Amino acid sequence: MTRFTRVVAAGLQLLVAGPLFAQQATSFTVGSAVAEPGKTAYGAIAIAAGSDSATNIPVAVIRGVRPGPVVAFVAGSHGTEYSSIVAMQRLIGRIDARKLAGTVIVAPLLNVASFEQMTPHVNPIDRKGMNGGYPGDANGTQTPRVLAAVTEQIITPATVVVDLHGGDIDEDLRPYSYWFRGGRAAQDSAGLKLALAFGLDHIIVTDVDPSSPTAGRSLSGIALVRGKTVLVAEAGRSGVVAPSDLTALVEGSLNVLGELKMLDRRVTHVAKPVWLAGAGARVAADSAGVFTAVVARDTRVTKGQIVGHTTDFLGRPTGDIRAPIDGLVTFIRGVPSMWPKATLVNVAPILPGPGEWRAPRP
Ligand SMILES: [Zn+2]
Repeated sequence: MTRFTRVVAAGLQLLVAGPLFAQQATSFTVGSAVAEPGKTAYGAIAIAAGSDSATNIPVAVIRGVRPGPVVAFVAGSHGTEYSSIVAMQRLIGRIDARKLAGTVIVAPLLNVASFEQMTPHVNPIDRKGMNGGYPGDANGTQTPRVLAAVTEQIITPATVVVDLHGGDIDEDLRPYSYWFRGGRAAQDSAGLKLALAFGLDHIIVTDVDPSSPTAGRSLSGIALVRGKTVLVAEAGRSGVVAPSDLTALVEGSLNVLGELKMLDRRVTHVAKPVWLAGAGARVAADSAGVFTAVVARDTRVTKGQIVGHTTDFLGRPTGDIRAPIDGLVTFIRGVPSMWPKATLVNVAPILPGPGEWRAPRP
């Protein structure tokens, strides 16, 4: 080969295969984690003290060697949904930065105090829920300060946001994904592809109106409003870290990266998901007492069917708990503790198909 033909051949190769072999040269930073291409960096987002204590949000950044999307996996908004937190810890070690295109951010535990103090649903420091106050407030109490940092450092740089949950300590829950739809065709179909790739065969269809002032309060909501591709998946129950739930969440997350062509991984879409309506029906306790479930998660129930009993603290019956509608028990209270407004059971209607997006009634 002459020098000239060598140059032409090299040029042709670049033309034909250029993007495949393109490299990304710069590092990627979240908090104190600075990841060079081909490397995984471990660190934390420091939340300074305000009216209450400081905290650190653990974060890993896996920087691929080739260009691609930025995917954020976030878990532990509810710090006792253990299976999702442990799954995200494991996910970090399962992604080889040298074989990755794009960048992966993994934040396995947003609500550190909830985990440390074993407090379900809220951050015990300020008693606020950590999945309902986005975009947060840098001058607020600890929860809004954390959410402001998550918005700025995790949601803003991401093109895809995956929010993992794990059935809380008091929830005997069957695994499912959520397809969050905002009525924007391209964004919604990208979200559906991730839900089908993830692999959980029950998908809850939740329609959101991005123009509603309350649409961006949750992690998935703010991500949707800001145009990200969104997936929420949940597997786990009652404080148990079951291998099957860990596998579902870890392999599902890797499937997301396969679907996005960030990893070389064959992905099979769920062929026939069970579609569930996002607007399920919950029964809440009207008083303190003791709850005993008589059906398990994943039971198909009819309206009026008894799903549990309640008693006072001396064991005297105080009532039957009945299914409020026909549908599937997505979760039922998995512990006896019960207080006013505690959720006892959630029943979701089974849909013939996902249907078209409709703006939810305000
Ligand atoms: Zn949760």
